[in-house]
Amino acid sequence: MPNHLFDAIRARMPEPDRPFIIHPDGRMLSYGGLDALSAQMAGALVAAGVRPGDRVAVQVEKSASALMLYLGCVRAGAVFLPLNSAYTLAELDYFIGDAEPALIVCDPGKREGLAAIARGAAVETLDAAGEGSLLQKASALPPAFVDVERGADDLAAILYTSGTTGRSKGAMLSHDNLASNALTLVDVWRFTPSDVLLHALPIFHTHGLFVASNVTLMAGSSMIFLPKFDPNQMMALMPRATCMMGVPTFYVRLLDHAGLTRAATAHMRLFVSGSAPLLADTHRAWSDRTGHAILERYGMTETNMNTSNPYDGDRVAGTVGFPLPGVAARVTDPETGKPLPADEIGMIEVKGPNVFKGYWRNPEKTTAEFRPDGFFITGDLGKIDARGYVHIVGRGKDLIITGGYNVYPKEVESEIDAMPGVIESAVIGLPHKDFGEGVTAVVVVAKGAALDEAAIITALEVRLARFKQPKRVFIVDDLPRNTMGKVQKNVLRDMYRGTFG
Ligand code: AMP
Repeated sequence: MPNHLFDAIRARMPEPDRPFIIHPDGRMLSYGGLDALSAQMAGALVAAGVRPGDRVAVQVEKSASALMLYLGCVRAGAVFLPLNSAYTLAELDYFIGDAEPALIVCDPGKREGLAAIARGAAVETLDAAGEGSLLQKASALPPAFVDVERGADDLAAILYTSGTTGRSKGAMLSHDNLASNALTLVDVWRFTPSDVLLHALPIFHTHGLFVASNVTLMAGSSMIFLPKFDPNQMMALMPRATCMMGVPTFYVRLLDHAGLTRAATAHMRLFVSGSAPLLADTHRAWSDRTGHAILERYGMTETNMNTSNPYDGDRVAGTVGFPLPGVAARVTDPETGKPLPADEIGMIEVKGPNVFKGYWRNPEKTTAEFRPDGFFITGDLGKIDARGYVHIVGRGKDLIITGGYNVYPKEVESEIDAMPGVIESAVIGLPHKDFGEGVTAVVVVAKGAALDEAAIITALEVRLARFKQPKRVFIVDDLPRNTMGKVQKNVLRDMYRGTFG
């Protein structure tokens, strides 16, 4: 049956024996293997009671099987719902209550905890090696599956964003949101079946899941699949790759590696960066060391990719390039929504086949984030210069981006404020050489309360995923406020600017 996204992938599949995933130890999953294993995964989902449109919540370590589970969901007409593997049970409880999945797939170590909050969903396991109860059931099934019929506008995935008010929102992404964006990127970044992508990103986020994996699939290319980013391993495997996609932290860390030289990268075709701002300094240092200009692009969970520096032509440091073909971008006055002329800073808005279908079960929020003419209000502040390059100058809502992950201060503040002895807190991002920004908390504690930096950090360990936990906590007498009573986070950022060197 016609299945919009998987048909687009299938139509571009190379010969069955061509590699799709290459493991560092030399094992590989071929395109023929992909076809068979994703069919078995789809069969296992149906056997577990998953019906078209049902959500499948997945919190697992990165593995080839996990990616086959994504494709199995697509083929079975289910909605893939990946969750950051660092989320605690307290955090997962909200996502499961909100998304009401029919099936939860998790690491065996979390099975018991998740079963207790599953609300009737079936629970299966998949471990870091890609083994577990789900794979066992899938392996017993035939390697063929009649794909469930899905059209362009049917949902393929829901990815949760962090919420500014502490509530995460599920971004609903359709089959065509994903297919159209991947096909555009294959084209503009010139991917071909001979490309081999060095893939060290997580696959619960739009960057590693959709940008990296869907582009590889739609080009019939291969990818070297690493469980996590390790500079030594990256340098050791680079000779076998042709391109790399990474968050700015990858580039900063690789620049610290003595093996990064012009000779070691001479065979590489493309280095792509995104998910957080790449410092112009890093761009220049990389090009001095390797002779390659990093290609920076801009996207977000809700929109897939919006802009990219050109493949041919100037990749301008500190900019995110031009709107992709088929994507319209404009800068508006944040208050009135009126388009602004070139070089004026305002709200970046985008429209195109890449832009999501709205927030899951949240029509009010969806309406609030779209203009009447269909443009999505990104929340990013920026400008478009006279040559048409988009520049991002800041984030509307004090979002912290640490190692490529978003942390909304409000969520961390709520956890700290709930601790006995805390009067109030302000959470800010401070410049950090490795992570881009380091999460930092400034806390006012009650007189006589026995709370110090270590106690606060320890208390947060079971409440928040590691990337959200403050790297430093400062105890103060009071927080600086403006005349309207608002905490002046800019003052705090200036006061503690040098904390991470
Ligand atoms: P996420 O939804 O996790 O992908 O985060 C999206 C946000 O990351 C965007 O709204 C931007 O604030 C930021 N972002 C993504 N790419 C870039 C980039 N190249 N430069 C600056 N910020 C970026």
